[in-house]
Amino acid sequence: MAKRGNSIIKGLEINDIITTLNRAYADEWLAYYQYFIEAKVIKGIMKDAAIAELTQHANDELRHANMVADRILQLGGTPLLNPKEWFSHSNCGYEEPNNFDVVSILEDSIKGEQCAISIYSNLADMTRDKDIVTYDLVSEILADEVEHEEDLQALYDDITEFVSDLKRSIQG
Ligand code: FE
Ligand code: FE
Ligand code: MG
Repeated sequence: MAKRGNSIIKGLEINDIITTLNRAYADEWLAYYQYFIEAKVIKGIMKDAAIAELTQHANDELRHANMVADRILQLGGTPLLNPKEWFSHSNCGYEEPNNFDVVSILEDSIKGEQCAISIYSNLADMTRDKDIVTYDLVSEILADEVEHEEDLQALYDDITEFVSDLKRSIQG
């Protein structure tokens, strides 16, 4: 644990920061797996573009899990040790893909990103001016989650527009 490093935290209980970061840590692992499995099972039109995006996001979520785990350790905490705890600690949960169609998969993922944005925005509010290092970390992750939502939404819009154009041309 970083003694001097942690002495600069003001107005926040370190244990509360650790608990909150562990929730985010659980979210990141579940998000990682959700993207991983979505990229495997996805079907339908323009699926290659979706697979590229989902795979990139899976890698980002795993990188986020790494960043959050390292900060928890710096604060003197322990990252969740058992995957069973991911579900009981998660804020955003897990959207099991029930429908493998591209549009449905993208809808599930967009929901997850919107939750992640709320969580990291709350974490930034909690740590601003109090724990600068965690604040910087969660701000960096927040920017990635905003980009994730935007990328998925743009892809969703392209696909749904393409499909409705196609339907119109068939109906002639
Ligand atoms: Fe993430
Ligand atoms: Fe994300
Ligand atoms: Mg992306």
